[in-house]
Amino acid sequence: MKRGLWFGTNWKMNMTPGLARQWTDTVTAYMQNMPSDHRLFVMPPYPLIPQLLRDTEGTGLIVGAQNCHWESRGPYTGEISPALLKEIGAHNVLLGHAERRKQFDETDEVIGRKVSAALHAGLGVVLCIGEGATLKGKQTETRQFLEQQLAVALRDIPSIQPERLVVAYEPVWAIGVGGQPPQAEEVADALSSIRQTINQMVDECVPIVYGGSVTLQNGRSLLTKTETDGLFIGRHALDPSTFIQIIETAV
Ligand code: PEP
Repeated sequence: MKRGLWFGTNWKMNMTPGLARQWTDTVTAYMQNMPSDHRLFVMPPYPLIPQLLRDTEGTGLIVGAQNCHWESRGPYTGEISPALLKEIGAHNVLLGHAERRKQFDETDEVIGRKVSAALHAGLGVVLCIGEGATLKGKQTETRQFLEQQLAVALRDIPSIQPERLVVAYEPVWAIGVGGQPPQAEEVADALSSIRQTINQMVDECVPIVYGGSVTLQNGRSLLTKTETDGLFIGRHALDPSTFIQIIETAV
């Protein structure tokens, strides 16, 4: 089965209702003439999810959350359940992002529980994995590290329906301001090892996208030289025109 090309963005703790509307107006206008095998997804902060779902209904834009808990209800102040996300209409959820792992001590085990809960609730999952700076350039260790992250995150998932899981390879050393923009060659090796592991574990239809300091300048080479199924873009996709330009330049 063909996996199509996926382009997504995580807004993190950015945007306002007004800026979000400008973003969705611009991006959904672009989507009207977009190739049919392209999939676009966006993860706004929780309070903006209903607005985005309303404003983009029927356009095909995939609207997700940036996190969820593994329980469906209970005494977890400040948390959001996968069941509630599903009920309000969210399509998917981002899990395992490096900022959650680092700033909120999320372990592979915790992420595995969340992945399982989200899929069981009927949400799609974008699962982030990626090694830190100490492994940069060390191919064998990087492969083992990524295999371990995948093995734990997906251990309770016997099979995946097509398009319900996207894996985002995001080396921690490449993410955010101060991150080191990657060379396509170093990304290609990691992506091929992730593909091998995924094929053994679940379903070869799982798209694998690359994220970390994607820009207008490097998007094309990252897309065409790495066998990635798409790009996951952070700060350079907050401006909708730049997001669209990155996609158009890359394909
Ligand atoms: C991210 O944090 O997931 C990310 C891809 O960010 P950026 O593109 O800003 O490096």
